[in-house]
Amino acid sequence: MESKTKNLGGIRAKHKTFCALPWIHLSTRPNGLLRVCCTANASSAGIKNDKKWDSKVGILKNDDGRPANLNNSDLASAWNNSYMRGIRKKMLKGEVPDSCTKCFKEEASGHLSKRIWETEYWSRRIDLQQLIDDTSPEGEVPPKLYYIDLRLGSKCNLKCIMCSPHDSSLWVSDHKKLFNSVENKQLKQHLIWDQKGTMDGGSYNWPQNNQLFWQQLFEQIPHMKQLYFAGGESTIIEEHYMLLQECIDRGYAPNIELRYNSNGIELPDRLFEMWSQFKRVRFHFSIDAYGELNDYIRYPSKWSHIEAQLDRLDQTPESIEVTIACAVQVLNIYYIPEFIKWKLSKKYKKINPWPLGAGLMNFHLVYLPAFLNIKVLPHETKLKIADKYQKFYQWLECHHSSDKDFLEHEYGIKRLKGLIKFMLSEDWSERMPQLREYLEKMDNIRGTNSRSFFESW
Ligand code: SF4
Repeated sequence: MESKTKNLGGIRAKHKTFCALPWIHLSTRPNGLLRVCCTANASSAGIKNDKKWDSKVGILKNDDGRPANLNNSDLASAWNNSYMRGIRKKMLKGEVPDSCTKCFKEEASGHLSKRIWETEYWSRRIDLQQLIDDTSPEGEVPPKLYYIDLRLGSKCNLKCIMCSPHDSSLWVSDHKKLFNSVENKQLKQHLIWDQKGTMDGGSYNWPQNNQLFWQQLFEQIPHMKQLYFAGGESTIIEEHYMLLQECIDRGYAPNIELRYNSNGIELPDRLFEMWSQFKRVRFHFSIDAYGELNDYIRYPSKWSHIEAQLDRLDQTPESIEVTIACAVQVLNIYYIPEFIKWKLSKKYKKINPWPLGAGLMNFHLVYLPAFLNIKVLPHETKLKIADKYQKFYQWLECHHSSDKDFLEHEYGIKRLKGLIKFMLSEDWSERMPQLREYLEKMDNIRGTNSRSFFESW
């Protein structure tokens, strides 16, 4: 694709902390809170004094200092509020906004941050220099939304081990049993479901109740280049289909890319019919391991169904791009080599075809809950994992690198090395008691056996 931004290097040299997203994008939480982006809201994870941030870092604030929420606010008034203006001004001055700590920490440990890949991606589609030139000294920019991340409530058909009732309606009953039984104070703190999502005026019903939001979003459809859907589970949420239909009816679907992070459990025929009218669909299928471990993590999915859905997606037209999105955490990091071997053995035509994810799969890190982050593992376990990966790199070089630039690809071995470097970069093992209690309690609630995945190491 032709580059729109002639000199991204020049922008980066002049504005060292620049990220395209605060100029083109907004992100929602399932209960209507607005965020700079999904990563911004995870930026407090790992900051020692998490409580100070109260999980609100990256959440947009209204001019009165209260969090902006789509139950009582709207898109247009959020776009140039003092919080958004402040972030843009900081970035243009080369400072790191608090909301963006996570990206810069990841970059420092050799991981490819969302800031880097998103800015590179959008530099090929939008003239970023023009956006900077159009920014007022107060940090205001014209109200054009090119890209939105929508979490249309918490309706979901899974209750993954790293998730919570904040994002999955199916989690509610397990949370009740878990929260009442937890003894560890820090763990209990992590598991608070504050006022059942209603704090700061939140409600999971905002997509049904806020008609002004929809009116303003529909007005943005002519500018829109990407609609991104993530949890709850958009494929079972009716408003997701309503928005796709609106884009089709207004004639803009051929200009718009759709992007999903989805559990892929429900893929009705009408979805494929709608997708065929859009410019492109990028479907990131959330799968975290091979077989039983995936069923444990993405509870209560069934591996045979996941494989059947992958086979179905492998038959879709070229305009639909499919990747496996693997969330890396303490439970699966040891088993990722087996997962990759399985994926390569399937010889899919279009699930992460080269060069997507270097032909392997895509990885992102679990930050919340913090006790599932890979930095929590004990040092000797980390060394064992690092050693296993070292041997796996040799296997990959022999089995996956012929006729390709695999060895140099940033999503190949380099990406795996980045995971290991990140894991070794800090010691969070003080959270091990939280992890142990959490897994034990969840096993009691669900009748599962998390120990079976650790016993063989
Ligand atoms: S720097 Fe990172 S956290 Fe901040 S807006 Fe960009 S992608 Fe989001």
